[in-house]
Amino acid sequence: MEKEGMKDKYGAVKGGTNFIHAVINEDIEKNTYGGMVHTRFPPEPNGYLHIGHAKSICLNFGTALQYKGLCNLRFDDTNPSKEETEYVESIMQDVKWLGFNWEDRLFYASDYYGNLYDYAVELIKMGKAYVCDLTADEVRKYRGTLTEPGINSPYRERKVSENLDLFERMKKGEFPDGSRTLRAKIDMSSPNLNLRDPVIYRILRSTHHRTGDTWCIYPMYDYAHPISDALEGITHSICTLEFEDHRPLYDWVLTTLKFNPRPKQIEFARLDLTFTVMSKRKLLELVRGGYVRGWDDPRMPTISGLRRRGYTPEAIRDFCERIGVAKANSVVDISLLEHCLREDLNMRAPRRMAVLDPLRVVIDNYPPDLVEEFDADNNPEDESAGKRKIPFSKILYIEKDDFREVPPKDFFRLAPGREIRLKHAYYIKCVSVIRNKKTGEIEELHCTYDPESKGGWTSDGRKVMGTSHWVSARHSVKLEVRLYDHLLLRENPGDEKEDRDYKELINPDSLKVFKECRGEPSLGEVKKGEFFQFLRQGYFSVDPDSAEGKPCFNRTVSLNDPWAKKQKRQA
Ligand code: ATP
Ligand code: MG
Repeated sequence: MEKEGMKDKYGAVKGGTNFIHAVINEDIEKNTYGGMVHTRFPPEPNGYLHIGHAKSICLNFGTALQYKGLCNLRFDDTNPSKEETEYVESIMQDVKWLGFNWEDRLFYASDYYGNLYDYAVELIKMGKAYVCDLTADEVRKYRGTLTEPGINSPYRERKVSENLDLFERMKKGEFPDGSRTLRAKIDMSSPNLNLRDPVIYRILRSTHHRTGDTWCIYPMYDYAHPISDALEGITHSICTLEFEDHRPLYDWVLTTLKFNPRPKQIEFARLDLTFTVMSKRKLLELVRGGYVRGWDDPRMPTISGLRRRGYTPEAIRDFCERIGVAKANSVVDISLLEHCLREDLNMRAPRRMAVLDPLRVVIDNYPPDLVEEFDADNNPEDESAGKRKIPFSKILYIEKDDFREVPPKDFFRLAPGREIRLKHAYYIKCVSVIRNKKTGEIEELHCTYDPESKGGWTSDGRKVMGTSHWVSARHSVKLEVRLYDHLLLRENPGDEKEDRDYKELINPDSLKVFKECRGEPSLGEVKKGEFFQFLRQGYFSVDPDSAEGKPCFNRTVSLNDPWAKKQKRQA
């Protein structure tokens, strides 16, 4: 792995240089592109962007920024049957949200259909392309294998004039779908299968999201991509490793058509994350099959899902910087992504108290009509965030989990006869437990408080079992809270044997909804997109499902940081 940058306190690399920079630096030294650095991010609008795309976005836009160059956004829309305007819009929103700007450089491969057609005609005239009448199956058979050379198509030696005529008639719609293709004439015995006369145009009657029914022939990606790059003046065409074997074809197209200087394709390893499936095909299947609520379900690894969950663009950019770029595929621990998020939110998230699973507590010796207000820091990491008032009264809620009638050995919270601290308020001691006569469930605790412990401390310095969060029952507001876990149960769901579908690994407990949570009063007036730390529970963001008087929160991430712990253990 090319990772030479400075290591942060957890051992992750920040702001390092990488092998792509090395290539660019050499080009600048040799003046290959007149000192320019011009990259592009080329999504296919056939789905929503995911965290893997974020890596590519940060790399392409980030590299351009580092070199004071430019980065284009280009929709690679050469496959009309799978592409939709909804995807185009979501992709633009996601790139912007991540903090990048293509300014006036928004392009579509479909803008170049005319040029691409003209270049194909040029190839035919050069004797470098021919119309082939083999069916898709036959083309495959003739292609040969890794160990056997291919066989020339019987149509390979067609005359230029005949090819020109047939190609024009393909365009005019004279032939049925799939009946003919235009193929580059390269080398049927090349060890690289991509060079065995690849198809560069196919006949397909499908309405395109931008060009409608203007075209019934469509260029193939491997042909359209290099030319689109060249037409936009791209210098470094950064893509993922699976295109490495396509690079000779990329170069062949540009060299044959005499583009000079020609853009340079550089491949890097795609991002893969533990507990995550990342291919758009699988994500689409999760959406269509109703396994999740939509592309922006907070359990999805899509940018829109992460945004809804409460991820910040800062955290995602930090993550992309820390994982670096390498030439070898590897799987990144999802706890690093969560760690980056915690680091960001810890500095910025206002603190609040909310009880997810409330248990009623009556303070027997507290005056029934008294309400006291306690000062609480909005963020101990940031003094400028100020303080807020929290009301305290006779009837409170604490977390059910913070009480045990028969406490196990390692339980350091409230139990009969035990004393705990209520954060920012008083010490309380449990004196009795009231159960529901029918169900036997614990309904209410009776406690006493120590007036001397106001603010959460006493002068005798006595120790209490622990500190709990709480809310005043009559001042609290009702909240809906959604807790999430990994959508998939297996660390490497992609590793499963072929006969096991990743959908069988879907975690049945990946979403837990709590509808009767109680929060301190200010949580009643939150705006969509706001985020908080709920004491002891994690970071939460306001979900778009919230309505007036009905706040709804997603747990973005819990407080427990396995990544930081792992790093400490290794240090
Ligand atoms: P998928 O395989 O999920 O369908 P894709 O590669 O077909 O993804 P594109 O829309 O073509 O999706 O991707 C746009 C750009 O993002 C490409 O340059 C691609 O290489 C890059 N990219 C896609 N997935 C990842 C990933 N997991 N990590 C890094 N870059 C990625
Ligand atoms: Mg692709």
